Amino acid sequence: MFFFIGGIQPKTVTVDKQARTCPSCGHVEVYLKRVDHYMSLFFIPLFPVKRGAPFLICENCNTIIDEHGYSTGAERPMREKRCPSCGRKVDRDFTFCPYCGKAL
Ligand SMILES: [Zn+2]
Ligand SMILES: [Zn+2]
Repeated sequence: MFFFIGGIQPKTVTVDKQARTCPSCGHVEVYLKRVDHYMSLFFIPLFPVKRGAPFLICENCNTIIDEHGYSTGAERPMREKRCPSCGRKVDRDFTFCPYCGKAL
């Protein structure tokens, strides 16, 4: 009898080991995590098929915090451009740089 168990299963990975503080309860061991989806066979993850966006989860109060400050560079929405004068990131809707006043 042929018995096949395969499919895609989620796997939670810790992105970095730097502890952060939960804004909700003040718990200081909150780590940046990500849920990747793995193609698996017989419950053994073989290779990743999808990488999730990173998020922070507090294991004390179960609050999930979006880590907007964290960026891999790939999934970042193109809402920003750099000021050619001072090099700072400026919202693309701006006509003038709010930092140095140069026209963009
Ligand atoms: Zn918390
Ligand atoms: Zn500027």
